[in-house]
Amino acid sequence: MMLVNHLVVSLTGWHALSQSGVLPELANVEPWTYSLVALGTALPDIDHPDSTIGSRVKWLSWPIRIVFGHRNITHSIIAMAALAYMVHIEPLLVSVAFGYLLHLVGDWFTPSGLKLFWPAQRVYRSPLTIPTNSIAEYLFVWGTSALALTALHTA
Ligand SMILES: [Zn+2]
Repeated sequence: MMLVNHLVVSLTGWHALSQSGVLPELANVEPWTYSLVALGTALPDIDHPDSTIGSRVKWLSWPIRIVFGHRNITHSIIAMAALAYMVHIEPLLVSVAFGYLLHLVGDWFTPSGLKLFWPAQRVYRSPLTIPTNSIAEYLFVWGTSALALTALHTA
């Protein structure tokens, strides 16, 4: 999934979560938390030196790429567990973790899927996948986000 679409999903999701009342402690999220959600959304692709985030920290993305490969450790339950631990220490990071999690959900919808239990090589993907950077990806992401925002603000 393209970063722009990952961002639409995560930022819409964060907005919906904060407005829905499901998590009362997020009822009045500060606007700047959206930038942490965006950071968390970009973070899993730090293992790719040509990604938006990886190209900015090549000194970090190349070693991760060489040691672990792309879409391996950063797209696994190991990374999510590490992030959950960091949220436990610093609750503000919940917005980063939210963006990160929704990035993984987005990649689950791609034909490449996720090696969720890496280093196990089994790939997990949605029964219905959407090719990356396809018209279908844009229609699905922007369409469902528009519907979600409309539903949220007309309810
Ligand atoms: Zn990814």
